[in-house]
Amino acid sequence: MKEILLLKYGEIVLKGANRRFFEDTLAKELRYRAACFGNFSVRYAQSTLYIEPLNDFADLEGMLEAARRLFGVAGVVRAAVAEKNMESILAVAKEYLAPTLAGKKTFKVEAKRSDKLFPLSSPEISRETGGALLSVCPHLRVDVHSPEVTVRVEVRDNAAYVHAGQLKGAGGLPVGAGGKALLLLSGGIDSPVAGWMMAKRGVRLEALYFESMPYTSEQAREKVLDLAALVARWSGSMQVNVISLTHIQEELVKHCDEEYFTLLLRRFMMKLATRTAALRGCEALITGESLGQVASQTMQAINVTNAATDLAVFRPCIGMDKEEIVQIARMIDTFETSILPYEDCCTVFTPKHPKTRPELTKVLEQEARLDVDKLLDEAFETLETVYIRAKF
Ligand code: ATP
Ligand code: MG
Repeated sequence: MKEILLLKYGEIVLKGANRRFFEDTLAKELRYRAACFGNFSVRYAQSTLYIEPLNDFADLEGMLEAARRLFGVAGVVRAAVAEKNMESILAVAKEYLAPTLAGKKTFKVEAKRSDKLFPLSSPEISRETGGALLSVCPHLRVDVHSPEVTVRVEVRDNAAYVHAGQLKGAGGLPVGAGGKALLLLSGGIDSPVAGWMMAKRGVRLEALYFESMPYTSEQAREKVLDLAALVARWSGSMQVNVISLTHIQEELVKHCDEEYFTLLLRRFMMKLATRTAALRGCEALITGESLGQVASQTMQAINVTNAATDLAVFRPCIGMDKEEIVQIARMIDTFETSILPYEDCCTVFTPKHPKTRPELTKVLEQEARLDVDKLLDEAFETLETVYIRAKF
């Protein structure tokens, strides 16, 4: 029996004139992923992507899991293919679904035909299929209100498809349809989640990590690269830029008042991120900030940080509490890596009493004690770029 995956579009169906662009972006990304799992044909018709294995070596299960991490897809179906006649549909339904239904008590059948020339109506298809399944699974009972399994028969253009229900897809919009942005990626819980949330809105990600060797370790960098690889399973392969802040931090400690360290450092980060974005063709920045979470994330502190860049800064976690962020981190599989105990450059030289209501003028006075442009130039010289190939 032949199996196929059907991916149902999410929000793309709402797109008017641009729809073709979104569909093409999605199909391109899907073809790229499919190539990692063997030989598949990928085509789209009627708001559905069809993924068909072309030989026995194609890994349909792996492809299914990868498809569930593809933004732009609302639902994923693994179905058996039948010819467009009732004899074939019933034979396939019995053979394909009997194992699934074996341990279940109740079911119902829902049929849909997009081919209106098919001789039977949808209720008729449902009825006949239900009868056939009862003949091979006599322990079953039909329950139209809350069945354990909903069997679906879809009669489409080229074939009919039989399956036991749709799995939830990742939702959102296809990556690349929303431009490219630079994710400030630390080793924490929040920034991988922030990146994932923006990728979900169709944004292609590139990352920037600030390290501070020898105050931060090689393991801290490895951890961030691992996090980038985990996010890439959803968002696609990405470049991770690494910049050293060591010298800037040492100068801050030498010349500025302790209570301003974090704020000043964050402004340097924004300026370096803005330069990196220009170099790498990113049109916005993304951070994992959440209002009130720490001293540098009060409204006043965020204003001071924001004033260091002209780019839009997306902060998708801003209104979320830690519990909600952790929930997503677990779901996308970054949590366990995020909680590994390596230091971040923000946690070395942290002030005991950071300013929580900073005034920009005061911060600028502190900054004037430093040769900011020279420090930025030097730090930018340390930029390294690492390519993280997604393992879908
Ligand atoms: P996270 O859990 O993402 O590390 P956080 O709660 O620890 O966030 P901060 O350390 O104040 O908060 O950092 C706020 C945001 O600044 C981070 O979400 C991230 O986007 C960025 N950031 C912090 N440290 C770094 C770093 N070393 N490299 C790149 N970006 C960073
Ligand atoms: Mg952090």
